[in-house]
Parts: sequence; structure tokens; C-alpha cells
Amino acid sequence: MSPASGSSTTLSAARRTRELAEATDGRTVDLLVVGLGVTGAGVALDAASRGLDVVAVDAHDIAFGTSRWSSKLVHGGLRYLANGQIGVAYESAVERGILMTRTAPHLTHALPMLTPLMPMVGRVQAGVVSGGLRAGDLLRVSARTSAEVLPHPRRLTATEALAMAPALRGRGLRGGLLSWDGRLEDDARLVVSIARTAAGHGARVLTRTRVLSLSGQGAELRDELTGRVSTIRARAVVNAAGVWAGELVPEVTLRPSRGTHLVLRGSALPGLSVAVTAPVPGESNRFVLVLPQPDGMVYVGLTDEPADGPVPDVPVPSESEIGFLLDVVGAVFERPLHRSDVVGAYAGLRPLLHSEGRTADLSRRHAVLTSATGVVTVVGGKLTTYRKMAQDAVDAAVAQRGLAAGPCRTKNLPLVGAAPRDELTSIEAPARLVRRFGTEAPSVLAAAAELTDDPIRPVAPGSPVTVAEMLWGVTHEGALDVDDLLDRRTRIGLVPADRALAEPAAREALHLAGALNPL
Ligand SMILES: Cc1cc2nc3c(=O)[nH]c(=O)nc-3n(C[C@H](O)[C@H](O)[C@H](O)COP(=O)(O)OP(=O)(O)OC[C@H]3O[C@@H](n4cnc5c(N)ncnc54)[C@H](O)[C@@H]3O)c2cc1C
Repeated sequence: MSPASGSSTTLSAARRTRELAEATDGRTVDLLVVGLGVTGAGVALDAASRGLDVVAVDAHDIAFGTSRWSSKLVHGGLRYLANGQIGVAYESAVERGILMTRTAPHLTHALPMLTPLMPMVGRVQAGVVSGGLRAGDLLRVSARTSAEVLPHPRRLTATEALAMAPALRGRGLRGGLLSWDGRLEDDARLVVSIARTAAGHGARVLTRTRVLSLSGQGAELRDELTGRVSTIRARAVVNAAGVWAGELVPEVTLRPSRGTHLVLRGSALPGLSVAVTAPVPGESNRFVLVLPQPDGMVYVGLTDEPADGPVPDVPVPSESEIGFLLDVVGAVFERPLHRSDVVGAYAGLRPLLHSEGRTADLSRRHAVLTSATGVVTVVGGKLTTYRKMAQDAVDAAVAQRGLAAGPCRTKNLPLVGAAPRDELTSIEAPARLVRRFGTEAPSVLAAAAELTDDPIRPVAPGSPVTVAEMLWGVTHEGALDVDDLLDRRTRIGLVPADRALAEPAAREALHLAGALNPL
């Protein structure tokens, strides 16, 4: 069956209602995708752009699960190289290059990373790290990503290191090692962009649509807004439900591992213009990252704790993880960090396949598994490699069901808003909007100007988030309520105090966009 051609990338409550009714009207679609994290959204885009008729559902919202709790890095795979996983490392480096140069230059940037050579980092360890960074640079070259996009690593003097990270502990500092990796503007924004691009190729993207039971021929769905239960028939089914994948396909056994990040205000570590890599005492290949964000916040992460038992909707960091991160990072900065510096904390569960051993050592490679009823499950991997995961999953579904699909096109398929970097710099709109919406930034402003007099006013005093972003979230990105706006289309929700201040603006945006009647 051919998908709707010339579909719009606009997601809205009205489109969701219409397309949910279509999807469950007794027709048989080519592909049902469960989960609208980065993996499921990627599968929807891959399949729709091959000409398949696709329905992709999520029980909650786009990017509700693990995909919004990441470190927001577009990894070059250095860590996998260190573990001898050369194939995974190479795949990461290639996918990083695709994101940064072709599919999402607007949402990705080069991130300078500094490993300070403090007394606790011995000369042997420093030599090992330096060798690793050089190997990572070779990986970049082999993946054909230019040094203009990600510069070569180099050694810094102590003065240079302190200029980039003035809050570093200066006593005994021998210098630093500077390297470059990719950074996402925001992980949830990447997923929303992939989902909208899929919608532009005709995929029906349905949030608040829970799969109650699943087989290779379709699923029983519940509309979480109305409670209505219905059936969808599909020629092929891909389960991309992340850490919840095993709840739908019992043959899939996962061993989730929790990763926690802290959120600090920039004032806690003044002047930080690079990411800092802090060694975990007693471990040769484990570091805590201090990651300055474009919105002025600093994230500190991450932990790796086995998380057995029932999978929660929203994982919660433990106090011991928070204490561990503060201790490791406190050791490399002059000013001690206190619990009161932590204005937010978040945790995500890595969907690792079950195997023996420590979760930190489990392979980050993705897997595509076909169940007895014919459901194709795609699990594991990472944000950086979502495109390849999607390609492998769709290849498996197409081969298994003999679907009439074209070849994978996503290597050269820009996401909504993407453009070459030089084009992005000439867009006339506030820099923040260009970083988040790319070529769509002027449209974000123009659409908001039709609904409010001052589209770029902040949603709360001192907040970098503008009313225009919230309005666009409702009118074009499928946000259905305050939580979608505060926790996924924008990330104000990462700091609970800021979230409370911005909630009235989110309500107002829903009201102005006609999605909420009483204020
Ligand atoms: C702490 C942490 C940090 C990370 N940092 C990075 C990083 O910096 N860079 C990187 O490349 N990778 C990173 N990763 C890895 C990456 O975030 C994950 O591999 C990826 O986000 C997993 O995406 P997913 O789509 O498979 O799962 P999810 O994002 O969890 O999506 C699954 C979706 O399925 C939905 N769902 C579940 N059950 C149902 C149902 N019954 N019906 C309908 N929908 C359902 C959920 O609501 C959810 O939205 C990190 C992971 C963690 C945990």
C-alpha cells in the first residue's frame, strides 16, 4: 500500500484523532511500530521513506522514555574502542558524521572535551588517555568526518586548561588533553524532528496510544485519552519499546541499567566553556562528564547501576548516585560542590540485552530479534546509531514479510529544519531558535506572531525558553498537554523550580493555540 504522498510534517491533536481512526478502521497497514523513542521514530522514518504505509504509536508521548534522559552526546565510539568493540566504535563514528554533516547539522555541534591532568591522573594513565584520543581521531578520519567538523585532539598547558575551565583545581595541574566529540542540542528535540520527518513521508505518528497486546499481525491498542480499545492490522510489526520491549514480547529479556545525571546552574562552575572529564578514582577507564549546555545549565553524569525489578515509567535517581557524582566531580574543581548546587537530577534506563557480567561491560551493540509470532524487536544501541538500528529493523521486517519496499534512503535524508552549517548561520532568527529549529526558526516566529504580540518573551523570568517555542510545540509538534511542552518539546522540566514558574506559560500556549479552552 502506498503512503500518503506530500504529507505535512505538522503534528497536531486533530491529525492524531483523524489518523488513529484511520489506522483502526479495519484496513491492514504495511508496518506497525511500537514506541516513539529515537529507535521507533527512526524505524517509522526509514519505513515511510521507503514507500511503506506506517503507523507508529507511543503509550505516552514522543521521546517519553530513555531517549530524553541521555547525556545528549553524539558519540564517536571512543569508549567502545577502549573495550575492543571496534565494529561498534566504527559504526558510531560513521553515524555521528551522518548526523553532524547531513541529516541534522542544526541539532548537532562540536563539543570540546578537556581531560585535566591533575595529580590523581598518573603519567601512565595520561599516556593511555592520550593514545585513546589519537585512536578516536583515526576513527573520525576513517569515518570521513573532516577536522573542520571535529578538530584534532591536542595537549594543553595548565594556563590554557584553566582558561577553558577556570573553576578547575589549579594546584598540581600539569595541563590537559583536549578532544572533540558531537553534542546534541537536545535529545528529545532530535526525536521530535525524526518523528515529524516520518510524518512528512506519510507515517501516522500517534501519541497516547498504548499497545495492550502484540503479534506479528498487529496489536490491540488503547487510546489513552478516551480509553477506547481497538485493533490494528499490520503486515509487519516492529517492537521498539526500549526497556519495555520485554513486556510486549516475552522472548526478549532485558537487563536495564540506570544512568543518572545531575543538573547544576552554570554559576556553580563559573566560566566553563568545555566539557570536563573527571576520572573515577580507582578505575582506569571510567570517567564522569561535566557537560555545559547551550541553555546555561551544566549536566554531570553518569552512573551505571543495575536496575532490576519492574520498569518504572520515569526512573528516579538515588541519593547515593547523586553523592557519587558530586564526590567525583568535586575532586577536580576548586569550589566544592554541595547537594544544594543540584537543582535537578534525572535518570534513564539503558535497554541492555540480558547477559552475565557487570552492566557497565555489557555490549552497547544493538540487536534485531524476531519472535515466534513474527514481531521484529530492535533494542540496545544508542541515540547516535538510531538510523542504522532502524535500517536493520526495517530490512528484517521487509525480508520476513516480503513487503514491497524501496532501498533505505535515510543516510541522505535531512530531518526537518536541517541545512548545511553555512546556510544555518545566515538565517535571520534568534540563535537559540536556529539551534533548535534550523531552517524552520523564522516560521516558528511567524506562526507565534499570529497568536501573540511578543513571541520571543521568556516563558518565565530569566528563562531562555520563549513563548514561540511553546506555541510551535502545540501547533506543529503534537504537544497535547502541559507535560509534553515542559518535559519534552522544551526541557524546562529538568529543573523542578523552573518548571513550576513556566507552567502558566505552557497553559497559555495551549489556550492561545486553541488546544485548551479555559485558562
Ligand atoms: C543515562 C543514559 C545516557 C545515555 N546517553 C547517551 C548519549 O549521550 N548518546 C547516545 O548516543 N546514547 C545515549 N544513551 C543511549 C540512548 O539514550 C538509548 O539507547 C536510546 O534512547 C533508546 O531509545 P529507544 O527508542 O530504544 O527507547 P525509548 O526512548 O525508551 O523509547 C521507547 C518508547 O516505547 C514506549 N512504549 C513502551 N511500552 C509501550 C506500549 N505498550 N505501547 C506503546 N508504547 C510503548 C515508551 O513510552 C517509550 O517512549 C544513553 C542512555 C542512558 C540510559
